[in-house]
Amino acid sequence: MTQALIQHYIGGRVVESTSGRKQDVFNPATGEASAQVVLASVEEVNAAVDAARAAAPGWADTAPLKRARVLSKFKELIEKHHDDFAAAITREHGKVFSDAKGEVTRGLEVVEFACGIPQLLKTQFTDNIGGGIDNWQLRQPLGVTAGITPFNFPFMVPMWMAPMAIATGNSFILKPSERDPSPSLMMADLLKRAGLPDGVFNVVQGDKVAVDTLLHHPDVNAVSFVGSTPIAEYIYTEGTKRKGAYPLRVQALGGAKNHMVVMPDANLDQAVDALIGAAYGSAGERCMAISVAVAVGGVADKLIEALIPRVKALKVKNGMEADAEMGPVVTAQHKAKIEGYIEDGVQAGARLLVDGRGLKVPGLENGFFIGGTLFDHVTPDMKIYKEEIFGPVLCVVRVPDFASAVKLINAHEFGNGVALFTSDGNTAREFSRRIEVGMVGINVPIPVPMAWHSFGGWKRSLFGDTHAYGEEGIRFYTRYKSVMQRWPDSIAKGAEFTMPVAK
Ligand code: NAD
Repeated sequence: MTQALIQHYIGGRVVESTSGRKQDVFNPATGEASAQVVLASVEEVNAAVDAARAAAPGWADTAPLKRARVLSKFKELIEKHHDDFAAAITREHGKVFSDAKGEVTRGLEVVEFACGIPQLLKTQFTDNIGGGIDNWQLRQPLGVTAGITPFNFPFMVPMWMAPMAIATGNSFILKPSERDPSPSLMMADLLKRAGLPDGVFNVVQGDKVAVDTLLHHPDVNAVSFVGSTPIAEYIYTEGTKRKGAYPLRVQALGGAKNHMVVMPDANLDQAVDALIGAAYGSAGERCMAISVAVAVGGVADKLIEALIPRVKALKVKNGMEADAEMGPVVTAQHKAKIEGYIEDGVQAGARLLVDGRGLKVPGLENGFFIGGTLFDHVTPDMKIYKEEIFGPVLCVVRVPDFASAVKLINAHEFGNGVALFTSDGNTAREFSRRIEVGMVGINVPIPVPMAWHSFGGWKRSLFGDTHAYGEEGIRFYTRYKSVMQRWPDSIAKGAEFTMPVAK
């Protein structure tokens, strides 16, 4: 069977790569290469920037209402193709189909938010600040912008960026993950069908070569990155070095180690349900997955007792099966990496209560499956506590009291998401105020903000000043300008040499 070759999309059409570089894209459930993806050369990325640069001025001058209408049509088309996107995600990522549908919905919500751009771009106006002068603000597009996205949300994360960039009047180049690139071309096709002018949205498939070219191209004005912390830090450091009239604007969202604190007064059934979904959903390959349960006081033994049978009972299958709760992980290499962490935990002295290694799914013996894994008595010095595993591995850390839980979390290098399960309002309030983490859930295990709030972590989970989508997204993709205006009738005669003040 000839394999599909996933190409670039530049200037409103699919463009065949001539770089001579490509790599396999796997179906993680079967372990087979289902397609190949091309990897861009420097010249191909430059061609995408040229197309985006050519399209930018016309799009910037298009009325926000007209831009919103294109996005509104795009939203309708995504709704129509909701299942197609989800099936493509499951095929290349491995997550279960219902979860992939949820991902599409969360991405769609950002498109819905961006449809409100005429309202969102409204700014403040002060009539008559003095002497017949009015003062107001503009939020103007940056020009060519680019987004580099991770494998774990191949639809949702590009939607955190592209609709915001396009709504605010920029052109956009997406560099999706080479591990699950198909949704990127589906987006491009639907945007074109929605009426987006050619060149406003482009896709370059690729690896570090494409990323570095985008990062150093003088005509790229902003780069939004989501991925692991080492690459996020690299993108931010390299990108912000740029000299020139405008520094490159960079936001780089990185990795995570998200804790869920279970207080003795928490509803234990609810806490266990939350932990099972948040630790093992999407095989733990979510930047907001809970990977550490912090058991406070006497709650640990009861929690462990309730968790063990639930972890053992997880239905790990091909994500397309209706009752699957967890699919495979993304690649054979990633599976081996997760198994390496489990071995490390055992060697470091953590108590392995459920071991997901060696799981075989009948009929899918070559799939990249790994079962739910549970460790108890994990301590802060262990690698399995310090590093992001990004797999279905939950570590339980025991602490004596609330203050120790807060201290533990605040000492961690990552600060993406966190959750607290309690029935006490004062504990919840203290926690929300004291915790050094960007997104907090109180009895909500995965507090991913809705599209009209903004997403982002603290500490080494985000490099840059602005968070993604919502109002922060509008700020990231626009440049602020203040305008003061008066007309000849109100201009006093003669030069003024003192600092102008309202008289
Ligand atoms: P990754 O960092 O390996 O890759 C992300 C992107 O960077 C991809 O497009 C990839 O092609 C590119 N890339 C990889 N290596 C590069 C290099 N050396 N130089 C330049 N570019 C490079 O991340 P991933 O494995 O695809 O995704 C998982 C990671 O993303 C996890 O760490 C997860 O926590 C993180 N993530 C974070 C968020 C967030 O909002 N903070 C959201 C989703 C995922």
